[in-house]
Amino acid sequence: MVEVTLGSDGIAVISVNDPDHPLNILSAAAIEALSEKLDDLTDMVGPPPLGLIITSGKSDNFIVGIDIKELSSIENEAAYAEGSRNLQAVFGKIAAFPFPTVAAINGTCMGGGMEIALNCTFRVITDHPNTTLALPEVKLGLLPGATGSQLLPRLIGIQAALEMLLTGKKIYPARALKMGLADEIATPATLMEASRALILKGQSGRRRKGPGQWLLDGPLRALVFARAKKQVMKTTGGLHPAPLAIVELVKKTAGVGLEKGLTHEARSFGALGVTAEHQALTHLFFAGSGNRAQVAGEPAVVHQMGIVGAGLMGSGIARAALESGITVRQKDISWEALARASQSVHRHFSGKVRKKIMHQREATAHLGRYSSTTDYSGFAHGQVNLEAAFEDIEIKRQLVAELEMVMPDSAVIASNTSSLSIEAIAAEARHPERIIGMHFFSPVEKMPLLEVITSPATNADTLATAVALGRRMGKTVLLVKDSPGFYVNRVLTPYLSETFKLLQEGAAIEQVDAAARALGFPIGPCALLDEVGLDIIGKVMESMTTFLGERLELDNVVGRLTDDGRLGRKNGRGFYNYSGGRRGAADEAIYTLLGAAQRKKIPHEEALQRLHYALLNEAAHALEEGVIDDPTSGDMGAVYGCGYPPHLGGPFWTMDQLGIGEVAETLGRLAQRHGPRFTPAHALTALGQSGETYFPQKR
Ligand code: NAD
Repeated sequence: MVEVTLGSDGIAVISVNDPDHPLNILSAAAIEALSEKLDDLTDMVGPPPLGLIITSGKSDNFIVGIDIKELSSIENEAAYAEGSRNLQAVFGKIAAFPFPTVAAINGTCMGGGMEIALNCTFRVITDHPNTTLALPEVKLGLLPGATGSQLLPRLIGIQAALEMLLTGKKIYPARALKMGLADEIATPATLMEASRALILKGQSGRRRKGPGQWLLDGPLRALVFARAKKQVMKTTGGLHPAPLAIVELVKKTAGVGLEKGLTHEARSFGALGVTAEHQALTHLFFAGSGNRAQVAGEPAVVHQMGIVGAGLMGSGIARAALESGITVRQKDISWEALARASQSVHRHFSGKVRKKIMHQREATAHLGRYSSTTDYSGFAHGQVNLEAAFEDIEIKRQLVAELEMVMPDSAVIASNTSSLSIEAIAAEARHPERIIGMHFFSPVEKMPLLEVITSPATNADTLATAVALGRRMGKTVLLVKDSPGFYVNRVLTPYLSETFKLLQEGAAIEQVDAAARALGFPIGPCALLDEVGLDIIGKVMESMTTFLGERLELDNVVGRLTDDGRLGRKNGRGFYNYSGGRRGAADEAIYTLLGAAQRKKIPHEEALQRLHYALLNEAAHALEEGVIDDPTSGDMGAVYGCGYPPHLGGPFWTMDQLGIGEVAETLGRLAQRHGPRFTPAHALTALGQSGETYFPQKR
């Protein structure tokens, strides 16, 4: 797992390589092994090594962090703080060596791996496409507790450090070098040589002074922290303890000695370890990483994909497929649409090159695999052909028939429909067994979720191919039943419909949006409706009207808005007015269109509760009906597909925390006051009575 060798040049090399896992994860055993090897170097008889290089035996990752499973089994605040102290002590051994140390990084370097690198005198990184550096602890509701919060500001300055700590985002090689996070960039082949050269140049063992170091004492310090806190309040509404704790910790420890700083770090880490936010985010982390449900069939290896439709979705799917190495043949009936799609593909890759997160040669290779057409030429070679044309059952059936004429019988036909039944799309197909739903979300590059929908006829190989393709494109795959709205739109619909109810009762657009944001949604429902497009939502709601019955008692409210020429952001008119791509003020004319000219203040708590419980209840209905397989999938789908607040862990996790019995009672009260749409799902009443929960409870 951890090997140490001493070369004839006098340089020691520690190589980390977990033989049982493709990623280097720091388990307690790995840390123990590292600690022992570091002690061996300290206790070595004879002259000390000239220097030490710490590297990885993996071809695409350095070290990705601490073992989160082990972390989540820690019992209390004191134990979290103690764990932090122990790690600080082990990593501190690296910093204490009297000789220079180099972290030679090829591939992902995150969390504990980054903290090891920070304890080295130098960091040499490669230009490998997988090389990124990050301290993503904030995404788990934590902060770096193994020296990271203290060493990072000392290396790159407070401002840049806060940005990394608060967002957890990946830093790509060019930027890492520029900001002083890395000292040199090499190729994977020259990494060790470059690291050796740094040591042999006789560099001193002392840490380099970072470019922003002066801020530690400078007069701008107070301003930097005030601004960081303001930004955190703006993006999280103060709902997340971790970012606030990060700002406080860095502020408190700026300028104090390292030892004192580390004591504070361990204390803050301990406090965050026991927050509900950390538990919820850890639950989601496992939901995502456990999302490797094996499907029985044999997946086809996809070299080429045909995409019918080059609109918003078709072009987004093309970009994502190209980026995962797939050849894309795109068809549309309109040359204008194809030209726009082709432009978007070029813009996408040239943007990445400009931002220095992709090599020109890689971008050229991706672009070389893209071509477009107005006929089906080339579609015979696609292992998967996907349609993202208009949302119309007749058009989709026609496309299936056309595709079947040109495709070999073994190839898969996928539909990106958002509201039509896959069974209905496949109804007239010669081979319904190879037809499947692959529901991507917009914008395709950003949205992490893919719903994969089978009809009763879909065979196992088709399912396996779609799942493997989705994962290859970097998506979290949710298997859902072929029922109206699938899962994501299904749980969103009652929430959006409650939005209309609140507006009709007199609530203001801004108030409803503020209520959802106060809960932790990134944007409010009215703004969301504008983003997705009112025409699209209209189709989704229409497909669900009969199905949801009294839970969707709206009389064509969306239609009244689209009839008025409001499509949302895309044509500058929706709930809000848009100009120059910016969201402006809410448009008061909406109230008249909804037949609710009178404004009335609805208590904030009530608005928030009605929106939230409409969604919770629908999630319970969906699980009860087998739309999703388990509550974990439901949580993942809601967070990654609906924007449900991650710090709440998903609707099922939330209901467990609130107490399912209490949720059912609250829904009962809401039903009495506002109508039967709030009647609790049977499962909630039953679980409430039996005292069971969706997830096993931690102690
Ligand atoms: P869009 O209107 O932007 O694009 C549709 C494209 O399909 C147009 O360029 C059109 O010319 C083309 N087209 C129509 N008939 C065709 C045919 N016979 N052959 C080839 N091309 C044809 O629509 P969109 O927003 O990209 O949606 C496409 C599909 O994806 C729809 O089924 C929609 O429900 C679904 N979807 C949309 C979203 C979204 O947020 N927009 C999200 C998920 C799924």
